[in-house]
This record gives sequence, structure tokens and C-alpha cells, in this order.
Amino acid sequence: MKDEKVIGFLESCPASVLAQVLAKGLGARRERQETEDFQCKPVLAFATRSRQEGSDWEPWELSVVAPHDESDYPRGNHGEPFSQFGSCVSCKVACVSHLKNAVCPLCGGAVHLT
Ligand SMILES: [Zn+2]
Repeated sequence: MKDEKVIGFLESCPASVLAQVLAKGLGARRERQETEDFQCKPVLAFATRSRQEGSDWEPWELSVVAPHDESDYPRGNHGEPFSQFGSCVSCKVACVSHLKNAVCPLCGGAVHLT
């Protein structure tokens, strides 16, 4: 597949599809050898920052993009843009999704966002 086709898909697909496709694709990748004391996983991240009027930008904050829980939402429910924030109940990583109930891309735990 040509790079332009992949880039075009990533630019235009709904947030739900982006989260699902990249969680599955990145979750299957092995970037480094894991050991008994070391784990690593590539994930899609969502960066946010803000500033007060006339002030400098605050540091970036990263949340991992969590795909929606397919058992909670019917197919075709694309939800909102990535605007639901919270953290994974199991591994505590900061998460964002387009719907309130999602699945952590790192541990597979439930994520309930607001
Ligand atoms: Zn987790």
C-alpha cells in the first residue's frame, strides 16, 4: 500500500476507526525485546496543552488513545472527537477516547471516561 493512501486514510477516517485500527496494529508490533523486568508498547497518544491569556503555554500532557469498548456500543457508533478523558482502572495510565467506555491499549483494562 502506498504511503499516500495510508496517510489519506489516517487523515479522514472517524476517530473510532482511527483508535481501533491503530490499537490493533500498534498492539501487535514488537519494537524491542521485552525481558522479565522490561516492557514496552507503541501506542497512539493525544497531546493537549493550554495557556492563560498573555502567558506561556503549559507543558504538553499526553494521554493514550483508547478504542471504545465494542461490547458497549453498537457498530457504526463513531461518537465524538477525542474529548472523553480519564485513566485506566487497572494500570492507571491517562487515557482519552471518543466515547465514555473504552479499553486500555496497554493492559486491556476497562476505561470509564468523562
Ligand atoms: Zn491499562
